[in-house]
Amino acid sequence: TKFSDLDLSPKVLKAIEEVGYDTPTPIQAGAIPPALLGRDVLGIAQTGTGKTASFTLPMICNLGRGRARARMPRSLVLAPTRELAAQVAENFDLYAKHTKLTKALLIGGVSFGEQDKLIDRGVDVLIATPGRLLDHFERGKLILSDVKIMVVDEADRMLDMGFIPDIERIFGLTPFTRQTLFFSATMAPEIERITNMFLSNPERIEV
Ligand code: AMP
Repeated sequence: TKFSDLDLSPKVLKAIEEVGYDTPTPIQAGAIPPALLGRDVLGIAQTGTGKTASFTLPMICNLGRGRARARMPRSLVLAPTRELAAQVAENFDLYAKHTKLTKALLIGGVSFGEQDKLIDRGVDVLIATPGRLLDHFERGKLILSDVKIMVVDEADRMLDMGFIPDIERIFGLTPFTRQTLFFSATMAPEIERITNMFLSNPERIEV
């Protein structure tokens, strides 16, 4: 398979070409086609397998040209740590560079002011750690009823860090009709439980 066989948008294909990727990795070849069709995806993959692109690329394509309204992000990516969230944001910037999609990175350790400003302006994609996202929500700054795509990255680390209750709460704040892309390195019973609860007939890809 080549990236050009995957039905990604021309703008995304151009960005990938510029980044210098030639061939999709196994998780990308497995996850991108069902994700582009709007299916839920359960990806079982470690870091270093290319999983970030496997959810970021279809997310960018599926968001298309719509515009976000103030305080109402159209997609949400949750990562367990500030560093991982920042890495996803960097990847998003690379892959979305030829689109007009906007993002905000919501992580702890920085003041709310700048993050508030971006949210108020309206962003297509929120990339966040669970605690910080809920902080914004509880401050009344965020409405999650327009989320079309929700990504959970490194769920097994979320479990280790005690974030599963936060994740369940955030799932409950988003519409049932959302598309969910869920990634974990392992499938602990607790992870299996929440995927059964919140994913709808997912395509399961294990690499
Ligand atoms: P990840 O597993 O998402 O952290 O990605 C691991 C590394 O692989 C990152 O440095 C990516 O830029 C790189 N990468 C992702 N997809 C590809 C690809 N299809 N071809 C070459 N490198 C890639």
